[in-house]
Amino acid sequence: MPQSRTYILGADGATWSVLSRLLRDGKVPHFQRLVDEGVYGPLESVENMRSASAWTSMFTGCNPGKHGIYEFYEFLPQTYSLKYIHGGYKHVPGFWTYLEQAGQTAGVINTPMTYPAEPIKGGYVIAGLDGPGKASPRFCSPGDFIDKLETKMGCEYVIEPGLTGAIARGKPEEAVELLEEELESKHKSLVTMLDSMPVDCLLFVFRSLDAAQHCFWKWMDPTHPKHAQCSKEEIERFGGVIDSVYIKLDAALGDMLDRIGPDDHLMVISDHGFGHKCPVSSQLNQWLAAHRYLVYEEGGTKPNAVSKALKFVASHTSRGTKEKLARLMPGVRNWAQSKALFSGVDWSKTRVYSDAQFPRLRLNIKGREGEGIVDQADAPKLMDELRGKLKAMRDSVSGEPIVRDVFFSSEIYKGTHTGPGEDILVRWREDIVIHGVQMPKGYEAPQEELSVMPGEDPRVISGDHQIHGIFLGIGPAFRKGERIGEGLRLLDMTPTILHLQDQKIPSHMDGRVMKVAMNPGWLADHPVRVLDDESPPSDACPPPRQQTEYSEQEQKVLEDRLRSLGYIE
Ligand SMILES: [Zn+2]
Repeated sequence: MPQSRTYILGADGATWSVLSRLLRDGKVPHFQRLVDEGVYGPLESVENMRSASAWTSMFTGCNPGKHGIYEFYEFLPQTYSLKYIHGGYKHVPGFWTYLEQAGQTAGVINTPMTYPAEPIKGGYVIAGLDGPGKASPRFCSPGDFIDKLETKMGCEYVIEPGLTGAIARGKPEEAVELLEEELESKHKSLVTMLDSMPVDCLLFVFRSLDAAQHCFWKWMDPTHPKHAQCSKEEIERFGGVIDSVYIKLDAALGDMLDRIGPDDHLMVISDHGFGHKCPVSSQLNQWLAAHRYLVYEEGGTKPNAVSKALKFVASHTSRGTKEKLARLMPGVRNWAQSKALFSGVDWSKTRVYSDAQFPRLRLNIKGREGEGIVDQADAPKLMDELRGKLKAMRDSVSGEPIVRDVFFSSEIYKGTHTGPGEDILVRWREDIVIHGVQMPKGYEAPQEELSVMPGEDPRVISGDHQIHGIFLGIGPAFRKGERIGEGLRLLDMTPTILHLQDQKIPSHMDGRVMKVAMNPGWLADHPVRVLDDESPPSDACPPPRQQTEYSEQEQKVLEDRLRSLGYIE
């Protein structure tokens, strides 16, 4: 009898608040089937809820302190700049490595942090959005996989919908077209793989929902602070875009359900949930400045030329050109975006700073950061003080407390790779509408807006990540028709996949087999087995950690290029 198969449909950013409504309205019959015949519930993300970090935990079973990935980029504290990173930076292997060792095959499609695509014997990988583009070497494995796939399905494989540019240009209707094109391409790819490229375990990620929810949330959600400013016509045209993505994913799910056998397992998961964009994340440096933790040079809060240029490039460049640029000039974004972010900060007087992308803070520690001024010995006291002040943050309109939790790195990340992460992580409340942060009395906000990265522009982005994603599972191992209220964690996905594929669970993993979702009879017949593996073999990560530093020479090239195009003065 053939070994049963495991399928994982990754719906980046899928969230119960929307899915429950669509289930209630009878709009997603295949999700409904999973609810009726399988097990489902909220899936807890990793603490920072970032896609790069969360997916890496999903496919390694390890917390970020062990896999070392916190975002699509890393801080370079010596220079206060950022460096874009990729899957080659992870320190522990993905589940496919263990399956391959057991002679099983795996397909891993469009999963963030899987570039460079690892070779899997008898299997295949198409990297996620950490990869520069289809034409890059090692974007897929085997190297001709995308060519073969495109020939079979008769259309182009589209990596990302790339919506922010169209929204920034004030053309949401173009974003809708991009989204439809991407969804159709992914749906066809999935069906082609299921029909003619079988593997023992397939992880196929749709990123469409994450992109759509970031951009279209305000039109859908009447409780969003910006909803009232949207015209009736806009709400009619764009208010249903997010729903339509769920409905298309439901169709893809239906095609999967049609194709799986009675012994197979299918799970639908998301890496985090979704809700309103909390505007305070991008106000953190301003808040730190108001409390004198961060000091700007005179006039330093003005968005500088590079920031403006980046916004221009982001909104006026086509998806294909951006991919090409990223490939031709690796590191361009590293240099330019960090210039935009920390422009005008006086490091000699700054004790705490944030990348203002998501709510995390770093201390400007002496010896650790380039111009650090905080003694390591004083750090705990400063962190306690910050915890108190952060917890006391209040909404600028309602006056309500806005912080649910403040975590220190040591409380949430365990392992030897905590260095690139934050010192302090803030969790906003998800149960109230947050309009902004109240600044201290007498503090005068700068006249000019602060620099933000294009992908975080509040005029473009109205939705953001929340801690609970979705889990639905169907197959002989899973309970039937049961909701699991708590205890399902993204971290548990890899041990669960390995167990469903009849493999031992490496003991270095932080995740556990999701017994809470499984039926006791099946578990009694399939006891969990442990592989004694406290530290994974160092050669278990095939791609070497590749450095993509941006040299001074390259910076100069970029600067000249931007200047010649009129983007900077
Ligand atoms: Zn995500």
